[in-house]
Amino acid sequence: MLTTRTRSLSLLTPSGHLTLGNLLGALGPMADAAGPDSYYGLSDLHAMTTPHQPAALRERSVEMMTLLLATGMGEATLFRQSRVPAHTGLAYLLECTARTGELARMIQYKEKGRGVDSTRVSLYTYPVLMAADILLYRPDVVPVGDDQRQHVELARDLAQRFNTRYGEVFVVPELVTVAAGARVMDLVHPTRKMSKSAGAAGSIYLLDPPDVVRRKIARAVTDSDTGPGAVRPDRAAKPGVTNLLDVLVGCGGSAEGVSTYGALKRAVTDAVVDTLAPIQARYAELADEPAYVTAVYERGEQRCRQVTDPVLGAAAAAMGL
Ligand code: AMP
Repeated sequence: MLTTRTRSLSLLTPSGHLTLGNLLGALGPMADAAGPDSYYGLSDLHAMTTPHQPAALRERSVEMMTLLLATGMGEATLFRQSRVPAHTGLAYLLECTARTGELARMIQYKEKGRGVDSTRVSLYTYPVLMAADILLYRPDVVPVGDDQRQHVELARDLAQRFNTRYGEVFVVPELVTVAAGARVMDLVHPTRKMSKSAGAAGSIYLLDPPDVVRRKIARAVTDSDTGPGAVRPDRAAKPGVTNLLDVLVGCGGSAEGVSTYGALKRAVTDAVVDTLAPIQARYAELADEPAYVTAVYERGEQRCRQVTDPVLGAAAAAMGL
């Protein structure tokens, strides 16, 4: 998530179904902060850096567009990155600023693609697209968690190099480290983050019906310590139980008086089902009105073009185009 003092920018990649982790860690805070100067987008172009199915991407994008509205972001400027042409336009200009050496050092590329012939070129270049995503909106400050630090540092380097070589076009965003927020862990592998790309058993998806939520939580990993005081947070020794307690509190519940794993799981199930129910109800209404959802995004994309076209124009002119 990228935020500025006056303007905030958050992009979510439609690479899977949104999870309870996304809700507690990102969507909830985003909805609380939503206003017209909150630019919340689907980074649908970033969903194509690894092999993908067009029909699945289309379906997930529509689902995510609808879910962002269903989780209360109607006040924000909502958009699809692919519908705001300045993102790819500036990415190319920044590719003419970036160096192969610095892209080859990017962690994602090193871990997922380097040395493999079939790796998509876009996996190599997407940090440049991400730099464009950021620089187009001219944020002053970009708070980042550890996993995004390298990307934001690249955006700063490219902005500085560009400004020095061609003239002051970009605001060089300040990088502010944020403490890791609420992190929901996988129910089956509680030392891993719950993720939209992980196995379905360990992730609670926002559109999971109550019986599916119940079944997943019933099968969540706890531990064999079932004596008195077993229900207590201890991230190192009891990661599964700690995660269930975090989810319970994150969903507005309380562990007061809960002394067995069975009772804990029932309390967590009730809290999660209650949290998801209004979102799912709103989602069902919105899913019946796809033209309304599309119109909201088209309006947002129009606003994004007004913000980003002048930045792209200034960059292109500075480079001699
Ligand atoms: P991702 O799904 O990894 O693309 O992340 C999208 C946003 O959701 C980012 O702001 C993440 O920090 C947040 N997020 C993703 N998974 C979790 C999780 N398990 N717990 C908390 N926040 C998460």
